[in-house]
Amino acid sequence: MPLSPKSVLSNAIVRAALKQAWLDSNPGVTGGHEEGGFVVQDAADNVRIIRWPKGLQNSILVPPHYGCKIEGQEIVASFHTHPNTGADFLQKPGETDKRAVRDDPDLKGANYVGEFVISQATVYLVTPTGQVREVDDTQAIFAG
Ligand SMILES: [Zn+2]
Repeated sequence: MPLSPKSVLSNAIVRAALKQAWLDSNPGVTGGHEEGGFVVQDAADNVRIIRWPKGLQNSILVPPHYGCKIEGQEIVASFHTHPNTGADFLQKPGETDKRAVRDDPDLKGANYVGEFVISQATVYLVTPTGQVREVDDTQAIFAG
């Protein structure tokens, strides 16, 4: 069965990873930095998280992932945080976020559902074609 953003998000391992990334990014008006990672799946459909190196206040570098794979496993989703809650910062995904997913030929795997962007109030999804939509309340995701 093909994966959907909802089915990926319903996985307890994924929810715990999103929460951990949020906490690690030290969210607040000052002092936050972006964190992120890949959700990968093996042939037995086991889900695993591969975190990216720590990002900067307003950006994060995505490790190489040729053919929508990393460590030999299929990437089914990616995620990063928007931890800066001050008014100067965009909470929802911006143009750079949309382009980064849409224009990445290595984020076009058959089971890749898109990139989750975690803000304080809302978890957004950037789809592989660069569309943005709200998927859930952040607190609902963190509740497990
Ligand atoms: Zn972003």
